[in-house]
Amino acid sequence: MNKTDWNALSDAEFQAIAREFFETRCPARLKHLPRRPRWTDVKEWYTNMSEAGWLTPTWPVVYGGMGLDASKYIIYVEEMEREGCPRVMDQGIMNLGPVLIAKGTEEQRQHYLPKIHSAEHLWCQGYSEPNAGSDLASLRTEARLEGDEFVVNGQKIWTSAAYDANHIFALVRTDKTVKKQAGISFLLLDMNQPGIVVKPFKNMGGVDEQCSVFFDNARTPATNLVGKLNDGWNVAKALLGFERVWSGSPRQSLMFLYRLQQMAKLTGKLDDPVFVDRLTQVTFDVLDINAVYQRLVGVMKTGGTIGLESSMLKIWATETCQRVGELTMEAAEECGGLMGSIPFGDKEFDLLYPFLDARAWTIYGGSNQVQRNILAKGVLNLPS
Ligand SMILES: Cc1cc2nc3c(=O)[nH]c(=O)nc-3n(C[C@H](O)[C@H](O)[C@H](O)COP(=O)(O)OP(=O)(O)OC[C@H]3O[C@@H](n4cnc5c(N)ncnc54)[C@H](O)[C@@H]3O)c2cc1C
Repeated sequence: MNKTDWNALSDAEFQAIAREFFETRCPARLKHLPRRPRWTDVKEWYTNMSEAGWLTPTWPVVYGGMGLDASKYIIYVEEMEREGCPRVMDQGIMNLGPVLIAKGTEEQRQHYLPKIHSAEHLWCQGYSEPNAGSDLASLRTEARLEGDEFVVNGQKIWTSAAYDANHIFALVRTDKTVKKQAGISFLLLDMNQPGIVVKPFKNMGGVDEQCSVFFDNARTPATNLVGKLNDGWNVAKALLGFERVWSGSPRQSLMFLYRLQQMAKLTGKLDDPVFVDRLTQVTFDVLDINAVYQRLVGVMKTGGTIGLESSMLKIWATETCQRVGELTMEAAEECGGLMGSIPFGDKEFDLLYPFLDARAWTIYGGSNQVQRNILAKGVLNLPS
């Protein structure tokens, strides 16, 4: 089928195709995993999606995407989660790709976007630093222009899956003499060079998922600057907007909800009217995310920009997910605190790791407290 035709299908037709795609093309061994798999494990699924043209559902068709409209994209997400398909290396797909499409040069798009599809380039996000998280603009990793190259020195932290990435997009300080937001640039770097060292550290689930990334005279061509010199803050904000919309996707809540529903069926919890009442409440909360998300994706697809709404969506989606996770732990009763796979009926569920993992979702992409500050100032006109 011609990729441009997806939006011409009825929702029911597209849903049937998506269901079949995720059922048959995602390897069974990768479905319903409790945690993000390593690249070597998930590569087959990434390649299957890419070869079928299903890797980048929201990118425009001209850049190899499916160009899905909002309602089709929601169906894509729902079907993917129903099948329990795993998270792939997605910084290129969800964040860098859309930023290059919006803010990059045509040369950068032509060079980098196909390499995301082919998995030749696997990206990680180098924003946060030891003293620059919520106050990101205080970042100190610096880049100086030497001839036609930038030379980068400093440290990033919390860089997710940097051990599996071979490229990093980073915010760097290129002017120390101006207001802090005004002296930042957005650079693309190849990580296969002696000047970049990655050191993973454990999260509270005991898994190495985040890393420190050290830059010691790392080099990148000046053509790898995205946007103008010292205008990286605007590029960074655009990317954070995409990231918040991604964090606000119903993807994770749906995954949690499907797991809860299956477990409740197996444990007989559905005979308990109080539990059913609470399950219904969180189900409606997830449906609310679907509705808001669909609306915002629709605005983006028609060329509109999303401002403060992305903060609201991020808060609602990540906190709903945590509520579903908490109800799952309660429903599991005495098994809820056990690490690893726990048998329920003829199925097994790993409950504790996703519950712990969900603690992080209200932190990254800009913590929920900071999102509330943004809404307080921007919507309620409260003072800073
Ligand atoms: C699992 C995980 C994955 C991550 N992945 C990446 C990644 O791939 N790349 C990357 O660059 N970064 C990543 N991050 C970093 C993330 O973006 C930061 O952790 C986040 O921005 C918060 O910064 P911080 O950790 O320095 O906390 P701090 O900024 O020190 O905040 C500490 C606490 O104070 C609160 N706080 C801070 N300022 C205010 C304020 N003004 N008003 C009210 N409350 C405030 C915060 O909400 C938080 O609760 C990741 C983080 C986690 C946990």
